[in-house]
Amino acid sequence: MIPASLVLNAGSSSLKFQVFEPGEGGAPRRIFRGLFEGLGGSPHLLIRDGAGAVVADQRLGEGKPYGHEEALLHVAAWLRAHRREHRLAAVGHRVVHGGLAYSAPVRIDDAVVRELERLVPLAPLHQPHNLEPIRIVRRQFPELPQIACFDTAFHRARPEIAQLFALPRDMTERGVRRYGFHGLSYAYIASVLGDYAPALAEGRVVAAHLGNGASLCALDRGRSVATTMGFSALDGLPMGTRCGSLDAGVVFYMLREMGLDADQAERLLYTRSGLLGVSGVSNDMRTLRARTATDPGARTAIDLFVYRIGREIGSLVAALKGIDGLVFTGGIGENDAATRAEVLRGAAWAGFTLDEAANASGGPCVTRGPGPSAWVIPTDEEAMIAHGMHDVLAEARQPAL
Ligand code: ADP
Repeated sequence: MIPASLVLNAGSSSLKFQVFEPGEGGAPRRIFRGLFEGLGGSPHLLIRDGAGAVVADQRLGEGKPYGHEEALLHVAAWLRAHRREHRLAAVGHRVVHGGLAYSAPVRIDDAVVRELERLVPLAPLHQPHNLEPIRIVRRQFPELPQIACFDTAFHRARPEIAQLFALPRDMTERGVRRYGFHGLSYAYIASVLGDYAPALAEGRVVAAHLGNGASLCALDRGRSVATTMGFSALDGLPMGTRCGSLDAGVVFYMLREMGLDADQAERLLYTRSGLLGVSGVSNDMRTLRARTATDPGARTAIDLFVYRIGREIGSLVAALKGIDGLVFTGGIGENDAATRAEVLRGAAWAGFTLDEAANASGGPCVTRGPGPSAWVIPTDEEAMIAHGMHDVLAEARQPAL
Protein backbone atom coordinates (compact mmCIF):
# COMPACT_ATOMS: atom_id res chain seq x y z
CA MET A 1 0.00 0.00 0.00
CA ILE A 2 1.20 3.51 -0.83
CA PRO A 3 0.94 5.92 2.12
CA ALA A 4 -1.06 9.04 1.22
CA SER A 5 -0.93 12.35 3.12
CA LEU A 6 -4.04 14.49 3.33
CA VAL A 7 -3.51 18.26 3.69
CA LEU A 8 -6.46 20.31 4.97
CA ASN A 9 -7.10 24.03 4.91
CA ALA A 10 -10.46 24.70 6.55
CA GLY A 11 -12.49 27.92 6.48
CA SER A 12 -15.90 28.68 7.99
CA SER A 13 -17.87 27.21 5.07
CA SER A 14 -15.11 25.79 2.91
CA LEU A 15 -12.61 22.97 3.06
CA LYS A 16 -9.63 22.84 0.72
CA PHE A 17 -7.79 19.55 0.62
CA GLN A 18 -4.88 18.03 -1.23
CA VAL A 19 -3.57 14.49 -1.34
CA PHE A 20 0.12 13.66 -1.68
CA GLU A 21 2.00 10.41 -2.21
CA PRO A 22 5.73 9.80 -1.79
CA GLY A 23 7.58 10.90 -4.94
CA GLU A 24 11.25 10.94 -5.78
CA GLY A 25 13.38 10.37 -2.66
CA GLY A 26 10.20 10.21 -0.58
CA ALA A 27 9.43 13.92 -1.14
CA PRO A 28 5.66 14.54 -1.35
CA ARG A 29 4.06 14.54 -4.82
CA ARG A 30 0.54 15.92 -5.29
CA ILE A 31 -2.04 13.53 -6.71
CA PHE A 32 -5.34 15.35 -6.00
CA ARG A 33 -6.56 18.77 -4.99
CA GLY A 34 -10.14 19.48 -4.00
CA LEU A 35 -12.46 22.13 -2.64
CA PHE A 36 -15.78 21.99 -0.82
CA GLU A 37 -17.64 25.31 -0.97
CA GLY A 38 -20.89 26.10 0.82
CA LEU A 39 -20.49 23.72 3.76
CA GLY A 40 -23.40 23.96 6.13
CA GLY A 41 -25.79 24.04 3.16
CA SER A 42 -25.61 21.91 0.01
CA PRO A 43 -21.90 22.18 -0.74
CA HIS A 44 -20.25 21.96 -4.10
CA LEU A 45 -17.25 19.65 -4.44
CA LEU A 46 -14.60 19.92 -7.13
CA ILE A 47 -11.60 17.58 -7.28
CA ARG A 48 -8.74 17.75 -9.78
CA ASP A 49 -5.95 15.24 -10.29
CA GLY A 50 -2.23 16.05 -10.21
CA ALA A 51 -2.36 17.19 -13.87
CA GLY A 52 -5.30 19.53 -13.24
CA ALA A 53 -8.04 17.43 -14.88
CA VAL A 54 -11.42 17.54 -13.13
CA VAL A 55 -12.16 14.12 -11.62
CA ALA A 56 -15.19 15.05 -9.49
CA ASP A 57 -17.66 17.92 -9.81
CA GLN A 58 -20.79 17.45 -7.76
CA ARG A 59 -23.33 18.96 -5.41
CA LEU A 60 -23.72 17.12 -2.12
CA GLY A 61 -26.06 16.82 0.80
CA GLU A 62 -29.33 17.90 -0.81
CA GLY A 63 -31.88 18.13 1.98
CA LYS A 64 -29.66 17.14 4.90
CA PRO A 65 -27.07 19.07 6.89
CA TYR A 66 -23.64 18.71 5.34
CA GLY A 67 -20.71 20.21 7.22
CA HIS A 68 -16.98 19.65 7.70
CA GLU A 69 -17.47 16.20 9.26
CA GLU A 70 -19.50 14.90 6.31
CA ALA A 71 -16.96 16.47 3.93
CA LEU A 72 -14.02 14.73 5.62
CA LEU A 73 -15.77 11.36 5.64
CA HIS A 74 -16.57 11.89 1.95
CA VAL A 75 -12.89 12.58 1.12
CA ALA A 76 -11.75 9.43 2.97
CA ALA A 77 -14.38 7.28 1.22
CA TRP A 78 -13.68 8.89 -2.17
CA LEU A 79 -9.97 8.19 -1.79
CA ARG A 80 -10.61 4.56 -0.80
CA ALA A 81 -12.84 4.10 -3.85
CA HIS A 82 -10.57 5.87 -6.36
CA ARG A 83 -7.12 4.86 -5.16
CA ARG A 84 -7.36 1.33 -3.82
CA GLU A 85 -3.57 1.06 -3.72
CA HIS A 86 -3.30 4.07 -1.38
CA ARG A 87 -3.72 4.10 2.38
CA LEU A 88 -4.38 7.34 4.24
CA ALA A 89 -1.33 7.61 6.51
CA ALA A 90 -1.34 11.14 7.97
CA VAL A 91 -3.31 14.39 8.00
CA GLY A 92 -1.71 17.85 7.94
CA HIS A 93 -3.51 21.07 8.83
CA ARG A 94 -3.00 24.70 8.03
CA VAL A 95 -3.41 26.42 11.39
CA VAL A 96 -3.40 30.18 11.40
CA HIS A 97 -1.98 30.76 14.89
CA GLY A 98 0.87 28.96 16.61
CA GLY A 99 1.42 31.67 19.23
CA LEU A 100 4.83 31.87 20.88
CA ALA A 101 5.12 28.12 21.35
CA TYR A 102 5.38 26.88 17.75
CA SER A 103 8.03 27.95 15.29
CA ALA A 104 7.87 24.71 13.27
CA PRO A 105 5.28 22.04 12.34
CA VAL A 106 4.21 19.90 15.29
CA ARG A 107 2.58 16.51 15.76
CA ILE A 108 -0.83 17.01 17.33
CA ASP A 109 -1.62 15.45 20.71
CA ASP A 110 -3.89 16.44 23.61
CA ALA A 111 -1.46 19.08 24.87
CA VAL A 112 -1.12 20.65 21.40
CA VAL A 113 -4.91 20.79 20.99
CA ARG A 114 -5.20 22.51 24.38
CA GLU A 115 -2.55 25.06 23.38
CA LEU A 116 -4.25 25.73 20.02
CA GLU A 117 -7.57 26.21 21.83
CA ARG A 118 -5.89 28.67 24.18
CA LEU A 119 -4.91 30.72 21.11
CA VAL A 120 -8.51 31.06 19.82
CA PRO A 121 -8.90 34.58 21.30
CA LEU A 122 -5.86 35.68 19.25
CA ALA A 123 -7.49 34.58 15.96
CA PRO A 124 -11.21 34.22 16.74
CA LEU A 125 -12.31 34.24 13.10
CA HIS A 126 -9.82 31.64 11.84
CA GLN A 127 -8.49 29.38 14.60
CA PRO A 128 -11.83 27.70 15.49
CA HIS A 129 -12.27 26.62 11.84
CA ASN A 130 -8.75 25.19 11.79
CA LEU A 131 -9.40 23.27 15.01
CA GLU A 132 -12.65 21.71 13.84
CA PRO A 133 -11.18 19.23 11.32
CA ILE A 134 -8.45 18.35 13.84
CA ARG A 135 -11.15 17.30 16.32
CA ILE A 136 -13.13 15.47 13.63
CA VAL A 137 -10.11 13.45 12.49
CA ARG A 138 -9.23 12.59 16.12
CA ARG A 139 -12.79 11.34 16.58
CA GLN A 140 -13.26 9.53 13.28
CA PHE A 141 -9.71 8.28 12.60
CA PRO A 142 -7.98 8.23 16.01
CA GLU A 143 -5.10 6.13 14.68
CA LEU A 144 -4.04 8.72 12.08
CA PRO A 145 -1.10 10.97 12.98
CA GLN A 146 -1.97 14.65 12.58
CA ILE A 147 0.46 17.50 12.07
CA ALA A 148 -0.23 21.22 12.47
CA CYS A 149 1.63 23.76 10.30
CA PHE A 150 1.33 27.41 11.28
CA ASP A 151 0.97 30.70 9.44
CA THR A 152 2.82 32.45 12.25
CA ALA A 153 5.77 30.03 12.57
CA PHE A 154 7.96 31.45 9.79
CA HIS A 155 7.94 34.87 11.49
CA ARG A 156 8.89 33.65 14.99
CA ALA A 157 12.61 34.09 14.35
CA ARG A 158 12.32 37.82 13.55
CA PRO A 159 14.34 40.12 15.79
CA GLU A 160 12.50 40.73 19.08
CA ILE A 161 12.18 44.44 18.25
CA ALA A 162 10.13 43.58 15.14
CA GLN A 163 7.69 41.58 17.28
CA LEU A 164 6.90 44.26 19.88
CA PHE A 165 4.12 46.79 20.16
CA ALA A 166 4.91 49.88 22.23
CA LEU A 167 2.56 48.70 24.95
CA PRO A 168 3.05 48.04 28.67
CA ARG A 169 5.23 45.00 29.30
CA ASP A 170 2.48 42.97 30.97
CA MET A 171 0.48 43.14 27.71
CA THR A 172 3.47 41.89 25.73
CA GLU A 173 3.87 39.09 28.28
CA ARG A 174 0.27 38.00 27.83
CA GLY A 175 0.90 37.65 24.11
CA VAL A 176 -0.12 40.97 22.60
CA ARG A 177 2.60 41.02 19.96
CA ARG A 178 3.17 41.35 16.23
CA TYR A 179 2.97 37.70 15.11
CA GLY A 180 2.64 38.02 11.33
CA PHE A 181 0.78 35.60 9.05
CA HIS A 182 0.95 34.06 5.54
CA GLY A 183 4.09 32.34 6.84
CA LEU A 184 3.49 29.11 4.91
CA SER A 185 3.34 31.12 1.70
CA TYR A 186 6.52 33.05 2.52
CA ALA A 187 8.34 29.90 3.62
CA TYR A 188 7.45 28.35 0.25
CA ILE A 189 8.65 31.44 -1.65
CA ALA A 190 11.90 31.44 0.35
CA SER A 191 12.37 27.73 -0.42
CA VAL A 192 12.09 28.18 -4.21
CA LEU A 193 13.57 31.66 -4.64
CA GLY A 194 16.98 30.22 -5.48
CA ASP A 195 15.49 28.24 -8.38
CA TYR A 196 14.37 31.53 -9.98
CA ALA A 197 17.27 33.80 -9.02
CA PRO A 198 20.13 32.22 -7.03
CA ALA A 199 21.47 35.59 -5.86
CA LEU A 200 18.11 36.52 -4.31
CA ALA A 201 18.11 33.49 -2.03
CA GLU A 202 21.09 35.19 -0.33
CA GLY A 203 19.78 38.73 -0.75
CA ARG A 204 17.23 41.23 0.56
CA VAL A 205 13.79 40.55 -0.82
CA VAL A 206 10.29 41.89 -0.22
CA ALA A 207 7.68 39.20 -0.90
CA ALA A 208 4.13 40.39 -1.57
CA HIS A 209 1.37 37.86 -0.92
CA LEU A 210 -1.59 39.60 -2.57
CA GLY A 211 -4.81 37.60 -2.45
CA ASN A 212 -8.07 38.06 -0.55
CA GLY A 213 -5.76 38.36 2.42
CA ALA A 214 -2.68 40.45 1.65
CA SER A 215 0.63 41.16 3.34
CA LEU A 216 4.29 41.83 2.66
CA CYS A 217 7.30 40.12 4.19
CA ALA A 218 10.92 41.28 4.30
CA LEU A 219 13.21 38.31 3.66
CA ASP A 220 16.88 38.57 4.52
CA ARG A 221 18.72 35.55 3.10
CA GLY A 222 15.42 33.66 3.09
CA ARG A 223 14.47 34.49 6.68
CA SER A 224 11.59 36.73 7.72
CA VAL A 225 12.84 39.89 9.43
CA ALA A 226 9.67 42.02 9.21
CA THR A 227 6.11 41.70 7.96
CA THR A 228 3.06 43.93 7.62
CA MET A 229 0.57 41.79 9.53
CA GLY A 230 0.68 41.99 13.30
CA PHE A 231 -1.38 40.72 16.21
CA SER A 232 -4.22 39.71 13.92
CA ALA A 233 -4.69 39.13 10.21
CA LEU A 234 -6.32 42.57 10.10
CA ASP A 235 -3.15 44.64 10.12
CA GLY A 236 -0.99 45.99 7.31
CA LEU A 237 -2.29 46.24 3.74
CA PRO A 238 -5.95 46.79 2.87
CA MET A 239 -7.38 43.44 1.72
CA GLY A 240 -10.47 42.10 -0.03
CA THR A 241 -12.75 42.90 2.90
CA ARG A 242 -10.31 43.80 5.72
CA CYS A 243 -9.19 47.33 6.49
CA GLY A 244 -5.46 46.82 7.06
CA SER A 245 -3.57 49.23 9.35
CA LEU A 246 -5.97 51.42 11.26
CA ASP A 247 -5.50 54.09 13.89
CA ALA A 248 -6.78 52.43 17.08
CA GLY A 249 -8.66 55.67 17.72
CA VAL A 250 -11.10 54.69 14.96
CA VAL A 251 -12.15 51.66 17.00
CA PHE A 252 -12.96 53.86 20.04
CA TYR A 253 -14.95 56.13 17.75
CA MET A 254 -16.91 53.14 16.42
CA LEU A 255 -17.69 51.97 19.94
CA ARG A 256 -18.49 55.34 21.53
CA GLU A 257 -19.89 57.52 18.77
CA MET A 258 -21.35 54.98 16.35
CA GLY A 259 -22.74 52.80 19.13
CA LEU A 260 -21.33 49.56 17.72
CA ASP A 261 -20.49 46.73 20.09
CA ALA A 262 -17.19 44.84 19.80
CA ASP A 263 -18.65 42.11 17.58
CA GLN A 264 -20.20 44.61 15.19
CA ALA A 265 -16.97 46.62 15.00
CA GLU A 266 -15.00 43.44 14.35
CA ARG A 267 -17.37 42.37 11.57
CA LEU A 268 -17.17 45.78 9.93
CA LEU A 269 -13.36 45.78 9.93
CA TYR A 270 -13.02 42.16 8.77
CA THR A 271 -15.88 41.79 6.30
CA ARG A 272 -17.07 45.21 5.07
CA SER A 273 -13.84 47.13 4.64
CA GLY A 274 -10.84 46.90 2.31
CA LEU A 275 -11.43 46.78 -1.45
CA LEU A 276 -15.12 46.05 -0.87
CA GLY A 277 -15.67 48.89 1.56
CA VAL A 278 -13.79 51.53 -0.42
CA SER A 279 -15.21 50.55 -3.81
CA GLY A 280 -18.74 49.81 -2.66
CA VAL A 281 -18.60 47.35 -5.56
CA SER A 282 -16.67 44.17 -4.81
CA ASN A 283 -13.83 42.57 -2.89
CA ASP A 284 -12.67 40.83 -6.05
CA MET A 285 -9.85 42.40 -8.05
CA ARG A 286 -11.12 41.00 -11.35
CA THR A 287 -14.49 42.70 -10.85
CA LEU A 288 -12.84 45.96 -9.81
CA ARG A 289 -10.55 45.98 -12.84
CA ALA A 290 -13.56 45.40 -15.10
CA ARG A 291 -15.43 48.31 -13.49
CA THR A 292 -12.77 51.05 -13.27
CA ALA A 293 -14.12 52.90 -16.31
CA THR A 294 -17.66 53.11 -14.96
CA ASP A 295 -17.19 53.06 -11.21
CA PRO A 296 -14.98 55.71 -9.58
CA GLY A 297 -15.14 53.72 -6.33
CA ALA A 298 -13.47 50.74 -8.04
CA ARG A 299 -10.60 52.96 -9.21
CA THR A 300 -10.17 54.53 -5.76
CA ALA A 301 -10.09 51.11 -4.06
CA ILE A 302 -7.34 49.89 -6.41
CA ASP A 303 -5.40 53.14 -6.07
CA LEU A 304 -5.51 52.90 -2.27
CA PHE A 305 -4.42 49.24 -2.38
CA VAL A 306 -1.43 50.09 -4.61
CA TYR A 307 -0.58 53.23 -2.59
CA ARG A 308 -0.52 51.26 0.66
CA ILE A 309 1.61 48.51 -0.90
CA GLY A 310 4.07 51.20 -2.03
CA ARG A 311 4.23 52.77 1.44
CA GLU A 312 4.77 49.40 3.12
CA ILE A 313 7.46 48.40 0.62
CA GLY A 314 9.32 51.55 1.69
CA SER A 315 9.04 50.52 5.32
CA LEU A 316 10.34 47.01 4.65
CA VAL A 317 13.19 48.29 2.48
CA ALA A 318 14.20 50.39 5.50
CA ALA A 319 14.06 47.27 7.73
CA LEU A 320 16.23 45.39 5.18
CA LYS A 321 18.51 48.43 4.62
CA GLY A 322 18.14 48.00 0.85
CA ILE A 323 16.44 45.74 -1.64
CA ASP A 324 17.66 43.24 -4.22
CA GLY A 325 14.32 41.78 -5.31
CA LEU A 326 10.55 41.84 -5.07
CA VAL A 327 8.30 38.79 -5.41
CA PHE A 328 4.60 38.84 -6.30
CA THR A 329 2.42 35.92 -5.27
CA GLY A 330 -1.21 35.11 -4.29
CA GLY A 331 -4.26 35.42 -6.58
CA ILE A 332 -3.66 39.11 -7.39
CA GLY A 333 0.14 38.98 -7.34
CA GLU A 334 0.24 35.99 -9.68
CA ASN A 335 -2.52 37.04 -12.07
CA ASP A 336 -3.08 40.78 -12.10
CA ALA A 337 -0.42 42.31 -14.37
CA ALA A 338 -1.95 45.77 -13.86
CA THR A 339 -1.41 45.70 -10.08
CA ARG A 340 2.18 44.51 -10.57
CA ALA A 341 2.82 47.29 -13.09
CA GLU A 342 1.36 49.97 -10.81
CA VAL A 343 3.36 48.75 -7.82
CA LEU A 344 6.61 48.58 -9.80
CA ARG A 345 6.15 52.03 -11.34
CA GLY A 346 5.60 53.35 -7.81
CA ALA A 347 8.80 51.61 -6.68
CA ALA A 348 10.96 53.13 -9.45
CA TRP A 349 12.68 55.16 -6.68
CA ALA A 350 14.21 51.87 -5.45
CA GLY A 351 15.65 51.16 -8.92
CA PHE A 352 12.98 48.86 -10.39
CA THR A 353 12.40 49.08 -14.16
CA LEU A 354 9.20 47.41 -15.30
CA ASP A 355 9.48 45.12 -18.33
CA GLU A 356 6.01 45.68 -19.79
CA ALA A 357 6.05 42.72 -22.16
CA ALA A 358 7.38 40.25 -19.60
CA ASN A 359 4.88 41.50 -17.05
CA ALA A 360 1.97 41.17 -19.48
CA SER A 361 2.93 37.55 -20.16
CA GLY A 362 3.33 36.69 -16.46
CA GLY A 363 7.12 36.75 -16.08
CA PRO A 364 8.57 35.05 -14.15
CA CYS A 365 10.97 38.04 -14.20
CA VAL A 366 9.00 41.25 -14.82
CA THR A 367 11.80 43.84 -14.65
CA ARG A 368 14.83 44.62 -16.80
CA GLY A 369 18.06 46.54 -16.43
CA PRO A 370 20.71 46.65 -13.73
CA GLY A 371 18.52 47.51 -10.71
CA PRO A 372 16.74 45.12 -8.37
CA SER A 373 14.57 42.51 -10.06
CA ALA A 374 10.90 41.59 -9.57
CA TRP A 375 9.43 38.13 -10.00
CA VAL A 376 6.09 36.36 -10.23
CA ILE A 377 6.24 33.13 -8.23
CA PRO A 378 3.07 31.06 -7.69
CA THR A 379 2.78 30.15 -4.03
CA ASP A 380 2.04 26.63 -2.78
CA GLU A 381 1.13 26.60 0.91
CA GLU A 382 -0.14 23.01 0.74
CA ALA A 383 3.21 21.76 -0.60
CA MET A 384 4.85 23.46 2.37
CA ILE A 385 2.47 21.64 4.73
CA ALA A 386 3.13 18.32 2.99
CA HIS A 387 6.88 18.85 3.38
CA GLY A 388 6.41 19.86 7.03
CA MET A 389 4.44 16.66 7.68
CA HIS A 390 7.04 14.60 5.91
CA ASP A 391 9.82 16.09 8.08
CA VAL A 392 7.92 15.65 11.38
CA LEU A 393 7.06 12.02 10.61
CA ALA A 394 10.56 11.20 9.30
CA GLU A 395 12.05 12.64 12.48
CA ALA A 396 9.68 10.54 14.61
CA ARG A 397 10.93 7.43 12.78
CA GLN A 398 14.60 8.19 13.54
CA PRO A 399 15.93 5.83 16.21
CA ALA A 400 16.85 7.66 19.41
CA LEU A 401 20.60 8.18 19.76
P1 ADP B 1 -7.18 33.77 -0.91
O1 ADP B 1 -6.42 34.81 -0.14
O2 ADP B 1 -8.61 33.64 -0.48
O3 ADP B 1 -6.44 32.45 -1.09
P2 ADP B 1 -6.51 34.22 -3.68
O4 ADP B 1 -5.04 34.14 -3.43
O5 ADP B 1 -7.16 33.18 -4.51
O6 ADP B 1 -7.34 34.41 -2.36
O7 ADP B 1 -6.77 35.65 -4.36
C1 ADP B 1 -8.03 36.10 -4.70
C2 ADP B 1 -7.87 37.43 -5.43
O8 ADP B 1 -7.11 37.20 -6.63
C3 ADP B 1 -9.19 38.05 -5.86
O9 ADP B 1 -9.17 39.45 -5.63
C4 ADP B 1 -9.20 37.79 -7.36
O10 ADP B 1 -9.91 38.77 -8.06
C5 ADP B 1 -7.73 37.87 -7.69
N1 ADP B 1 -7.49 37.23 -8.98
C6 ADP B 1 -7.54 35.92 -9.27
N2 ADP B 1 -7.33 35.73 -10.61
C7 ADP B 1 -7.15 36.96 -11.15
C8 ADP B 1 -6.89 37.47 -12.46
N3 ADP B 1 -6.77 36.65 -13.49
N4 ADP B 1 -6.74 38.80 -12.62
C9 ADP B 1 -6.85 39.64 -11.58
N5 ADP B 1 -7.10 39.25 -10.32
C10 ADP B 1 -7.24 37.93 -10.10
